[in-house]
Amino acid sequence: MEGFEEKDLKYIWHPCTQMKDCEELPPIIIERGKGCYLQDIHGNSYLDCISSWWTNIFGHSNPRINRAIQKQLGKIEHSIFAHFSNKPAVELAERLINIAPEGLEKMFFSDNGSSAVEIALKMSFQYYQQMGKTKKIRFAALTDAYHGETIGALSVGALDLYNKIYKPLLIDTLRVQGPDCYRCKYGKNRDSCSAECFEHMERKLEIHHDELCAIIVEPMVQGAAGMKIYSPIYLRKLRKACDYYDIILIADEIAVGFGRTGKMFACNHADISPDIMCLSKGISGGYMPMSAVLTTNRIYDAFYDDYVKLKTFIHSHTYAGNAMACAAACESLNIFEDENIIEKNRDKAKLIKKLVIDRAKDIPFVGDIRQIGMITAIELVKDKNTKESFSWKERVGYGIYRIALNKGLLLRPIGNVLYFMPPYVIEKIDIEYMVDKCFESINEYFGL
Ligand SMILES: *Cc1c(COP(=O)(O)O)cnc(C)c1O
Repeated sequence: MEGFEEKDLKYIWHPCTQMKDCEELPPIIIERGKGCYLQDIHGNSYLDCISSWWTNIFGHSNPRINRAIQKQLGKIEHSIFAHFSNKPAVELAERLINIAPEGLEKMFFSDNGSSAVEIALKMSFQYYQQMGKTKKIRFAALTDAYHGETIGALSVGALDLYNKIYKPLLIDTLRVQGPDCYRCKYGKNRDSCSAECFEHMERKLEIHHDELCAIIVEPMVQGAAGMKIYSPIYLRKLRKACDYYDIILIADEIAVGFGRTGKMFACNHADISPDIMCLSKGISGGYMPMSAVLTTNRIYDAFYDDYVKLKTFIHSHTYAGNAMACAAACESLNIFEDENIIEKNRDKAKLIKKLVIDRAKDIPFVGDIRQIGMITAIELVKDKNTKESFSWKERVGYGIYRIALNKGLLLRPIGNVLYFMPPYVIEKIDIEYMVDKCFESINEYFGL
C-alpha cells in the first residue's frame, strides 16, 4: 500500500528541494505541532530550530492565536480588499504603524514576502515617474542580497543559487559590494568597525545617483546569505546618503522584523526610518500567508489624485487583507505586549550563545559564531586560519541536516552556515537539547 510519503512524491513538487534527494530521504509528513516541536505521522518529533522558515515566532498550535483565528472564523474569513476592508485589517494597520519606525504612516497589504518586495520596487519607480524625475528608473542592491524569488525580487537579489539561470530575464540592477564582517577587508572587528565598507556605496552613488529610484537592503542581517550580520553604522550612512541624493530606502525586514534581532524591527538598531519597509514571515505568527508594505505620506501623496490623472497604484493580490491572517497578526502583537517577549528573549539568546561557544571550542571547523537577538549562526570552514570555505558541492550543511533529523532536530543550514532561529517560546531545556544535538551532529559528520 502506498503511504503518504509515496503519494507525496507522486503528486507534489516541493519548493527549494532537489526532488532526487527524496529518493534517499523521503519527505517528512507533519501531522501536528506544539510549541517549538513538530511531529510526523510516524510519531517522530523534531525541534523546529528555524521556526519553519523563520515564520513561527510563537510556537506551533499556539493557543492564543488558535483562539483568535477561530473567533474571526465565526465572523468573516475573507472578503475583497479593493475599496472594502475589515476590522482586523484596520486594527493591524493602526497598530503596526504605531510601532514602526517614525514616518511610516500608510500600510499596503499583500500575501507573501516576494510580492511585498515587488510592491516596494513598483511604488518607488512610480513615485519618481509621477514626481517628474523620470530618469530615476534603476534599483541598487547589495552583493549577497536575498529579497525573494519572483522575477523582480530576484533582480535585486544577488545569490547565484537563486538567480544565475534567470539572469537573461532580470531587471538590470546596480550591484554594490556590501558588508562582509567575518572576512572584513578593512581588518576591523565589531568594536572597531565604523562601516568603512560603505565606501563602495559612496562611490557607486556618486556616479549613478541620478538614475536610481531606490536602494533595497536587508537591515542588520543578510539572512539567506548565511546570516551575515553587519553594523548599524552602515544603515545610518545609507540613510544619510539616500536623503542626500533623493533615493528611496527600502528596508526588507521580511526575515528580521518582529523581534528576531532583539528589537521589534532591525532598523531600530540604527535608529533610522526607511521610506518603505517590507514585512512578512513572522507577521502572522507563522500561521497565514501575509505581508505588508509600510510607507510614508510623502510617497502616498504622490499617488493621490483624480482617477483620470492615472496615478493610482494599480497593484493587487487577491488575498490581500485576509481577515484571518490579520486576526492572527493582531493576536501576535498582543502576545508581544502581554508577555514581554523581546526582553525575555535576551536571556534565551545569551544561553544559546554560551552553550554554542562552549561546544564549539574544540571543533577545528567552526570559523565564526555570530549572533544578533534570536539569530545565532555557526559558519563552518575548512581552515579556521585562512577562513577557507567548503565547496558547496561537498554539501556539508546537508550532511549535518540529515544526521540532525535522526536526532530530532529540524535544522536547515544555508550552505556551510548552521543557524538557530527558534520560536520565541523555546525553553531552557529545549535550548540545551537543540545545541547538544546540533553539535553531536557536527561531530558525527566530521568523525570527531
Ligand atoms: C523570505 C524572504 C523574502 C521572500 O518572502 P517569500 O514569502 O518567501 O516570498 C524576501 N526577503 C527576505 C529578506 C526574506 O527572508
